[in-house]
Amino acid sequence: MAVRHTWRTKDGLKTGELTQAKAIRLKCLDCSGWNWKEVELCPVKNCPLWPFRFGKPSKAKGAA
Ligand code: SF4
Repeated sequence: MAVRHTWRTKDGLKTGELTQAKAIRLKCLDCSGWNWKEVELCPVKNCPLWPFRFGKPSKAKGAA
């Protein structure tokens, strides 16, 4: 389910449709300095968002 929302981006605020998966991807980007490579390499495996940081459950090593 998508909702209309306003969120922070590296270029300022953006308003649009937001799904739960997109919200997680955006939060991880925010947390990682807007750098996808840093999201990919995130070492904080005990973060509740870690398995979902690509917008779907991860099959990466270390995921539950
Ligand atoms: S998984 Fe957690 S710590 Fe890692 S980038 Fe996402 S929000 Fe930040």
